Amino acid sequence: MPFGRGFFLALAKSSFLNDHVTQWGFVKRATKRFMPGETPEDAMAASAALAADGRGTIFTKLGEAVTEPSEAAAVRDHYVWLFDQIKTKGLPAHVSVKPTQLGLDIDPKLCAEYTMELAAKAHATGSILWIDMEDSSYVDRTIALYKQVKAAYADTGIAIQAYLLRTPKDIADLMPVNPIVRLVKGAYSEPAHVAFPRKADTDRAFYELSDTLLKAAAAGKCLPIFGTHDIALVGRIAARAQELGVAPGKFEIHMLYGIKDAEQQRLRADGHTVKTLVSYGSAWFKWYMRRLAERPANIGFVLRSMLG
Ligand SMILES: Cc1cc2nc3c(=O)[nH]c(=O)nc-3n(C[C@H](O)[C@H](O)[C@H](O)COP(=O)(O)OP(=O)(O)OC[C@H]3O[C@@H](n4cnc5c(N)ncnc54)[C@H](O)[C@@H]3O)c2cc1C
Repeated sequence: MPFGRGFFLALAKSSFLNDHVTQWGFVKRATKRFMPGETPEDAMAASAALAADGRGTIFTKLGEAVTEPSEAAAVRDHYVWLFDQIKTKGLPAHVSVKPTQLGLDIDPKLCAEYTMELAAKAHATGSILWIDMEDSSYVDRTIALYKQVKAAYADTGIAIQAYLLRTPKDIADLMPVNPIVRLVKGAYSEPAHVAFPRKADTDRAFYELSDTLLKAAAAGKCLPIFGTHDIALVGRIAARAQELGVAPGKFEIHMLYGIKDAEQQRLRADGHTVKTLVSYGSAWFKWYMRRLAERPANIGFVLRSMLG
C-alpha cells in the first residue's frame, strides 16, 4: 500500500513539514475530525460537551521534544494555567503531558521538577496528571520519572505500550507502586527487536497485559485504564473484568476525541467510566501523522478537505 503505517510514521519525523504543513488551511480543516480546535478554549468547550453525556476529558497540548529550557518552562506554565481553568469551570478533566515537552532531552532534573510541580498543581485543583509514553528510547527514563512523581502524588498515571517486548517486565516492576496504568497499543515506529512488527501480536499482548492488570486490580494493587478504540478487545476486557469481579468503576476506558464517538457514548451508557483525550495546539503535524498511520483510510478526509 503506498500510504501505509511506515509512510506516515516517516513523515511524522519531519520537522520541516511540522513547521510548514500546519499553516495549510486545507490540512487544518482535515484535522477538525480529531481535534475540536487549536486553542485551549476550543478544547474546554469540547470537554463541557463531553461532560454532558458523562464522559471525562484528558487534555493534551500538542508538541514534543523541546530544545530550550524556556520552552519547557512555558509548557509547565501553560498547564498550571489550564489546571486553574479546569477548576474554575468545574470540568471533569485531567491533563496528559509528554516528558520531552517538559525538557527530558535537555535536563532530566528540570523535567522531574516541572512534572512534580504539575502533579502538585493537579492535586491542589482536584485534577490528575498523566504521563504519556513516547518512543522506546524514553521508556526507562519515563518509568523512573513516574515512580518519583507517584511516590509524592498517588493519583498520577502513566501510559504503557503493549507493542514493546519489554512491557510485561515493566508492568511487573511497576506493581509495588500501586500504579495507575493507561495501557495503549503504541504509536511509534520501532525496530523488530524492540516491538512486535505484526499488529496481531500487539493485539494479543494487549489482552494478556489487560488480564495481568485486571488481576492486580482485583487484588487492589492497580487502577487499569484501557486506551484503545478496538471495540472487540474492549468487549473481551470488560467480560474478563466481570469474571474477575472487577467492577466498572475499578477500570476505565479512554479513547481519542472524534474516534468511535458512538461507541464511547454506548460504553458510558452501559455504566463504564469513559474518558476522551482532547488534543489542541498548533504543533499537530507529527501527532496527526501518527493518527493517519493508525488508519491510513483517514487520508480520505484530507483529500476530501482539499477538494471541498
Ligand atoms: C487515551 C489514549 C492515550 C494514548 N496515549 C498514548 C501514549 O502515551 N503513547 C503512545 O505511544 N500511544 C498512545 N496512544 C495511541 C495508541 O498507542 C494507538 O496508536 C491508538 O490508540 C490506535 O490503536 P487502537 O488501540 O485504537 O487499536 P487499532 O487496532 O489500531 O484500532 C482499532 C479500531 O479503531 C479505529 N481507529 C483506530 N485509530 C483510528 C484513527 N486514528 N482514526 C479512525 N479510526 C481509528 C479503527 O477502526 C480500528 O479498527 C493513546 C491512545 C489513546 C486512546
